[in-house]
Amino acid sequence: MEDFFRGSLLIVGLGFMGGSLAKALKKNGFKFPIYGLDINKEAIKKGKELKVIDNGWISYEKVPWEEIDTVILASPVGTFETIANQLRKFIKPETTVSDLGSTKRLVYRMEEILGNRFVGAHPIAGTEKSGVEHAIDNLYENKKLIITPTEKTDKKHLQKVEKLWKLVKAKVEYMSPELHDYIFAVVSHLPHAVAFALVDTLRQMSDEKVDLFKYPGAGFKDFTRIAASDPTMWRDIFLTNADEVLKSIETFKRSLNTLEELIKEGKKEELKEFLNEISILRRSLD
Ligand code: NAD
Repeated sequence: MEDFFRGSLLIVGLGFMGGSLAKALKKNGFKFPIYGLDINKEAIKKGKELKVIDNGWISYEKVPWEEIDTVILASPVGTFETIANQLRKFIKPETTVSDLGSTKRLVYRMEEILGNRFVGAHPIAGTEKSGVEHAIDNLYENKKLIITPTEKTDKKHLQKVEKLWKLVKAKVEYMSPELHDYIFAVVSHLPHAVAFALVDTLRQMSDEKVDLFKYPGAGFKDFTRIAASDPTMWRDIFLTNADEVLKSIETFKRSLNTLEELIKEGKKEELKEFLNEISILRRSLD
């Protein structure tokens, strides 16, 4: 570990994901202090009380920058550019900067601000819960961790980030930022958009005669669990991957249209065949 890490690690945005990383690193023998920096003083207070971090601050000036060897951005992706502009003023030239944000083409902007030391990463793990108080130490175990290098990414920093995630037992994969954003628009961002829209449908179809929110069963609750996710985080994800998200919404509308037509025209056999094909595909997923 000493070959890769030479000092303290700072998590910027000490919420559920950053807190879970801090806990997992400690559990798996990371030897250096882990610090937090957040705009919310409650997050830092809780992080210290729960011993998720060794120390933390709400001001860049207070951080012991000479000790900091690695910085991980773990706030909503819409804050990354502002944070990078702050970091640039304080970090040592050899410090590695990485993130765990859900969209990845902003890696190019990070590179412009912070140079080739920036390594984009995205753990495919999480829940609809937010806040450091929900952090868990095994969140990343056996979960995919996507690293999205560019042509410019420095190898030394890249290897260090890979080592960091392997330490918490994640399964590291590499892909381009573009491929990442295409894939996760379809398999993650679209389902969240649909879940939000579905809950909105209940709101629209409730009236003074019936409150539809009294009736959802397990199916509806399972399906829409992710619509309880943090709104700031999801606004930022939709906006930083807007083109790919919009493409997947268009495709989804076509699938819904197909279903709508089959129902409208009462095509019993075709409707069953359509549902059968999809059901087989879904069963092959697990
Ligand atoms: P969270 O709401 O639990 O934590 C975010 C933290 O960032 C909060 O403590 C907040 O106060 C802090 N913050 C906000 N703006 C800040 C700023 N300008 N400077 C410093 N701190 C700031 O959110 P989370 O679920 O931990 O998600 C964090 C990141 O992880 C996001 O970028 C998200 O895209 C990514 N991610 C989340 C999941 C998930 O399932 N939750 C999965 C993969 C990746």
